[in-house]
Amino acid sequence: MFVYMDHTATTPTSPEVLKAMMPYFGENFGNPSSVYSFSRKSRSAVEKARTQVAQALNADSSEIFFTSSGTEADNWALKGTLDKARLTGKNHLITTQIEHHAILHTAEYLHKFEGVDVTYLPVDSEGFVNPDDVKAAITDKTALVSIMFANNEVGTIQPIKEIGAICRERKIPFHTDAVQGAAHLDIDVKAMNIDMLSMSAHKMYGPKGVGALFLRKGMRPENFMHGGAQEHKHRASTENIAGIVGFGEAMEILKTRLNEDKAINSARRDKLIAGILDKIPDAKLNGAVCGDKRLPNNINFSFIGVEGETLLLDLDARGISASTGSACSSESLDPSHVLLALGLKHEMAHGSLRFTIGRLTTDEQIDYVLEVLPEIVARRRAMSPLWEDYLKSKGEN
Ligand SMILES: *Cc1c(COP(=O)(O)O)cnc(C)c1O
Repeated sequence: MFVYMDHTATTPTSPEVLKAMMPYFGENFGNPSSVYSFSRKSRSAVEKARTQVAQALNADSSEIFFTSSGTEADNWALKGTLDKARLTGKNHLITTQIEHHAILHTAEYLHKFEGVDVTYLPVDSEGFVNPDDVKAAITDKTALVSIMFANNEVGTIQPIKEIGAICRERKIPFHTDAVQGAAHLDIDVKAMNIDMLSMSAHKMYGPKGVGALFLRKGMRPENFMHGGAQEHKHRASTENIAGIVGFGEAMEILKTRLNEDKAINSARRDKLIAGILDKIPDAKLNGAVCGDKRLPNNINFSFIGVEGETLLLDLDARGISASTGSACSSESLDPSHVLLALGLKHEMAHGSLRFTIGRLTTDEQIDYVLEVLPEIVARRRAMSPLWEDYLKSKGEN
């Protein structure tokens, strides 16, 4: 059996999306910036996608700017806002300890090369930011607050509307990395007081290599890409027409089935979580306990006594594709910065395993994982000195 349970790393491009994209690789190859009528097809295709994305967020289409990725949208929001703010003497950025590296490494860059002061807000043991901490961190130098909508490793959904209201009241621009949030949740940028928002198509059954930044009217971070006049002079370079068309299509489809997907995913998520807790002793669920405050597709556990990496290989040998949490950390053996921020000890952070379900998931696959995983964990624990030590220390208490 092939079981793909890494939908947070990426999703397959849906067949309808691919079908909508195809003409723009072929007969409709015109450059939208050209004046002749042939290029109009490309131009109107981009504008249709812009409307599709905008409608899904309750935004105006003039507020959507296409980029090459979620990472680029994050870089643009942070660097572009701080670049402009520094001209007026503001050089403080507030973010969190659990952001995706697209935010964290950008914040580190801004600190190192542009002298920006960065506050990394802590989170509680379930991964929630306390809005009072946001309030307390704001100074008269604060140029931007950037807090992710939902965490990619543990699935915790932040109180975005409340944080947005605090920023609005203090007149501080508020950006959110909603690459995961927008793929699973209803987002209304107006009701949620969001000024800037990053998205990525490949996390929502669209193609890889295309993203977008929502910029509320009046928000004008300095451009990130300089060059031609594309995207109303705010993001230079010839548009990835097919990618943008795919993004728009994916977003429209996502919106029509959002509630249905949410219900199906969260039922399966809860079944997998309950099954693991039932069948594997000393399994620790990481992230939000309350289902409504957790991404409907996220399951993240730590198993004391076993390395997550080892479990991944064992699962792979049984046809199951999972993750330890962050695709970017598969190259390094550092424990997840997210799990450490949640207060996990190093050995528990190393023992983490993430399953992210989605449209490829079936009930049979959930049962299969529940059959295979307990065996694997038990076998690895039987060989683990850490597990032995743990059992002894438990016996002593
Ligand atoms: C995947 C992801 C990104 C990066 O998006 P890309 O389009 O792959 O560059 C940023 N933030 C979060 C939360 C993500 O999950």
